[in-house]
Amino acid sequence: MARRKKIYEGKAKVLYEGPEPGTLVQYFKDDATAFNAEKVDVIDGKGVLNNRLSEFFMTGLMNIGVPTHFIKRLNMREQLVRQVEIIPLEVIVRNFAAGSMAKRLGLEEGTPLPRPIVEYSYKDDALGDPLVPEEYIVAFGWATQQDLDDIIALALRVNDFMSGVMHGVGIKLVDFKIEIGRIWDNDFMRLVVADEISPDSCRLWDVETGKKLDKDVFRRDLGNLTDAYTEVARRLGVLPANSAHPKPTLIN
Ligand code: UDP
Repeated sequence: MARRKKIYEGKAKVLYEGPEPGTLVQYFKDDATAFNAEKVDVIDGKGVLNNRLSEFFMTGLMNIGVPTHFIKRLNMREQLVRQVEIIPLEVIVRNFAAGSMAKRLGLEEGTPLPRPIVEYSYKDDALGDPLVPEEYIVAFGWATQQDLDDIIALALRVNDFMSGVMHGVGIKLVDFKIEIGRIWDNDFMRLVVADEISPDSCRLWDVETGKKLDKDVFRRDLGNLTDAYTEVARRLGVLPANSAHPKPTLIN
């Protein structure tokens, strides 16, 4: 097979040139990183699970009318996506205090917030993705005020959808991160949900026990990450209830 042109390699995914102009192939690796890549490991089967879970969430979002970059899953580790211009922001939505917010404000993890809070980090690994206010985003031209209004509306729709889906399977959506891309149709620009939605970028707690089913299992050494993600996938019906870990070597 001819080698594909690699467009970009990140910490958890690789982007290759797609079969048609304006498309990319997004490949999910097994690599896990945390604390701005200070902690690194390879977690067998993580990429396969995240590919399936991201497909599940992106398809669900499209079904309720939220635009995304997702076109279709190609095989166990790859999906075809629309090429977008990524806005250099991590858009974070929080329903309960956790992680950096709990630390910053001295709140106990799990404290309910008065309403969903949307915040932004500037995507820059060298700077450790610093939290930035809207005024910086507009002043530095990363997005316009109109973009930000649209991004908040998109992020809150994703939050309602994800919270509901998770609640249905006994999981609390504490917080999550999404990335937003621009798609140009001639002079007309649309904002879409891009990148991935998976337990790598969400905090997911079992409603009954509070057990963590997300990347904090890796960040905080709480157990086997693949077991946690497999549990999420099984509950959502993305994997058959009795399936073992997906075998990463299988194609399709
Ligand atoms: N998050 C992410 N990528 C990042 C930073 C955060 O996906 O580079 C997600 C994280 O998994 C959590 C949410 O965004 O679901 C809020 O993360 P927080 O700001 O609390 O940072 P953390 O404590 O994870 O460093």
